[in-house]
Amino acid sequence: MNDLKTYPEFQAALKAGRLMGSTDSSLPDRIHVPPCPDLNEVLWKEKMEKHEGKKGRFYVYGTVEDALGHIGDRPCPKCLKGIPSLRGFRGTWGGR
Ligand SMILES: [Zn+2]
Repeated sequence: MNDLKTYPEFQAALKAGRLMGSTDSSLPDRIHVPPCPDLNEVLWKEKMEKHEGKKGRFYVYGTVEDALGHIGDRPCPKCLKGIPSLRGFRGTWGGR
């Protein structure tokens, strides 16, 4: 697990379709596979520039187990619509 510290790192993870996570103090934490409407520049700026990462951050993971260990089994209902659980999930990400 790595937390994304800069906008270029965030953009690179999105472009590569990496397995990602978002935490938020006022919303449920989620696991994502981009593209996702909840992973965008406006939300990045709000989380990381306005709130300086204190109310939530974005992360990138190497494996599903890594993401499950950090966020829990909380697939995003937007980009992982129709996937109720990530346990045993064998979707593709990275290198696409
Ligand atoms: Zn998502």
